[in-house]
Amino acid sequence: MNETIPYDVTIIGGGLAGLALSIQLAAKGYLVALFEKEHYPFHKVCGEYISLESWDFIESLGLPLSQMQLPIIKKLIVSAPNGSMLKHNLPLGGFGISRYKMDFELKKIAESAGVTVYENCKVEDVVFENEKFKLHTVKGIFTSTVCAGSFGKRANLDVKWKRNFILKKNNKLSNYIGVKYHIKTDFAGDTIALHNFKDGYCGISKIENDTWCLCYLTNAANLKNSNNSISELEKNELYKNIHLKNIFDSATLMFEAPITISQISFAKKAQVENHVLLCGDAGGVITPLCGNGMSMALHSSKLAAAAIGEFLQHKINRQQMEELYTGNWQQQFGKRLKAGRLIQEGFGKTWITNMFIGIMKKLPFITNLLIKQTHGKPF
Ligand SMILES: Cc1cc2nc3c(=O)[nH]c(=O)nc-3n(C[C@H](O)[C@H](O)[C@H](O)COP(=O)(O)OP(=O)(O)OC[C@H]3O[C@@H](n4cnc5c(N)ncnc54)[C@H](O)[C@@H]3O)c2cc1C
Repeated sequence: MNETIPYDVTIIGGGLAGLALSIQLAAKGYLVALFEKEHYPFHKVCGEYISLESWDFIESLGLPLSQMQLPIIKKLIVSAPNGSMLKHNLPLGGFGISRYKMDFELKKIAESAGVTVYENCKVEDVVFENEKFKLHTVKGIFTSTVCAGSFGKRANLDVKWKRNFILKKNNKLSNYIGVKYHIKTDFAGDTIALHNFKDGYCGISKIENDTWCLCYLTNAANLKNSNNSISELEKNELYKNIHLKNIFDSATLMFEAPITISQISFAKKAQVENHVLLCGDAGGVITPLCGNGMSMALHSSKLAAAAIGEFLQHKINRQQMEELYTGNWQQQFGKRLKAGRLIQEGFGKTWITNMFIGIMKKLPFITNLLIKQTHGKPF
C-alpha cells in the first residue's frame, strides 16, 4: 500500500491509552487512524484490576460496564514473604476485567466511531517534516497532522529514538519481568491479594467468567538465578510464601504457558518526543504495586485528546499543544509516579518487606495513606 489520504491524527499502539484516545478524537469529528502490531483479541501481561476512578470514563467511551456483571473489588490483602498477612479496605476500590476482553471491546467501539484500525501493522518509524508526520509501517506510509504514541512500556520506537530510559544503565528501577496466568480458583471475588516474595510480588483478583488473574513482577536477576526458568523461579521463590504455594497447588491454570514480558523499566520518561505526544506507559510507567497503570493510561488519553482538540481547532500552536499536554500530565501523575518509584525501590529484600508489612499491620493509617498516594480521583 502506498501513501493514503492524510489523517488528522495517527495513533501508534492500540492498548487502553491508544484506543481511548482514538474514540475521543473520532467523537470530536477528526479523521483518526490507529496502528496496532497485534491482532485483536489478544492477551497482555497485566493484573487486570482497574481502579474505580476510571469507571465513569470507560462508560463514557461507550463500554457499558454496569451491564457486564464484573467483579467489584473493595478489599485488599497483603502478605509478606514470611506469610504474615495484612487486611485492609480499599478507600475507592476497583473492578476486574481481562485485557483480552476490554481492549477488544474498545477496538470495536473505536471502529464504529469511525476510527480506521490497522491491525498486524507495526509502525517502524515516524518522520516529522513540514508540519506533517509520515508513519512508516509494514502496510505502507501514512501521513497525519498530529501523531500520538501509545506503544506501551518498551517498543521498537523507544530504541530507534534512543530514549533516555533505554540508554540508562540498568539500575533498581529497570529490568523487571512480568508473568501472567488466568486461573480457576476459589478466592474471594471482592478482594485483591498482593503476595510478596523475594524481589517480587504477585497479585490475584477476579475478572469476568468466574476466572481469576494471577500476575507477578520480579527482577530479571531473580529469573536468572533460577536458570531463566519460570517454573523453577516459582518453585524456588514464589512458593516460599505459603499463600502463593497454596494458590499454585490448588488452582487450575488456563493457559498452556504463562504470558510474559521482560525489560520493564520504571525510570522517568518524557511525555513528548520528536513532536509525538506520548500517552499511557509510553509517557511514564507506574509500578504495578500501585495498581493503577490502566487508569493512568486512560486518564492521559483524556489529557491528550483535549490538547490535540485545541491544536486542531487552531486555538493553540504545536508548541503550546506539547506544553499543555506535558504540564497537565505532570500535574496529574508526577507525584503518583514518584510515590510509586519510592515504594518499588523499598520493596525487594525479604526482611524489609516482612518488617514493612509488620509495621503496616499495626498502623493502618499508613496503609491508607500509601493507597491514597498512589491512586487518583475519578476523571
Ligand atoms: C506485571 C504487571 C501487572 C500490572 N497490573 C496492573 C493492574 O492490575 N492494574 C492496572 O491498572 N495496571 C496494571 N499494570 C499496568 C498496565 O498494564 C499498563 O499501565 C497499561 O497496560 C498501559 O496501557 P497502554 O495503553 O499505555 O499500553 P499497552 O496496553 O501496553 O498497549 C501498547 C500497545 O502498543 C502496541 N505496539 C507497541 N509497539 C508498536 C508499534 N511499533 N506499532 C504498532 N503497535 C505497537 C502493543 O502491541 C500494545 O498493544 C500492570 C503492569 C505490569 C507489568
